[in-house]
Amino acid sequence: MVSSSPAEISRREQARRAAQFIALALLLLLGFAYLRRDTLGGRTWCVGPAVISVVNPFTRDPVVRARSERHEAAHALQARRDGCLALWRANWSTTRQLATEVEAKCAEIPVLYQMKGDSPAFARRRMARELRRYPRLRHLSTRELEMALERRCPAPPNS
Ligand SMILES: [Zn+2]
Repeated sequence: MVSSSPAEISRREQARRAAQFIALALLLLLGFAYLRRDTLGGRTWCVGPAVISVVNPFTRDPVVRARSERHEAAHALQARRDGCLALWRANWSTTRQLATEVEAKCAEIPVLYQMKGDSPAFARRRMARELRRYPRLRHLSTRELEMALERRCPAPPNS
């Protein structure tokens, strides 16, 4: 059996702590990069078996915050329902990205009815314009995206 000297154990402990610190710093940097990249300021990650949704903490507009929370909750649901790999793969296919983002945008629409008083058509047009900001969906027309939203989103209350 090989025994380690206290100095060797201390060096190993220091190396382990440094590695933990670097890993944490990288995660924070990655998280910040994600926060800055999203249009509404939210992201959803899979960390091992856990699904974590984050809304940009600097968002002050209550409508944007509520929409972002609902959008990320929809992605978290997709990750739990379809698996994290499927959600990640959706970034690389126009069809899959359209399906996942339309579903998440549908989750936001009730906020526009309730907090902004938008009509269903106006809310869909707003969501379609936002969907065109995704590089993979940019080639689709606003009308095509509106129709995708119309097919996928539930009807508003009292319609
Ligand atoms: Zn999304």
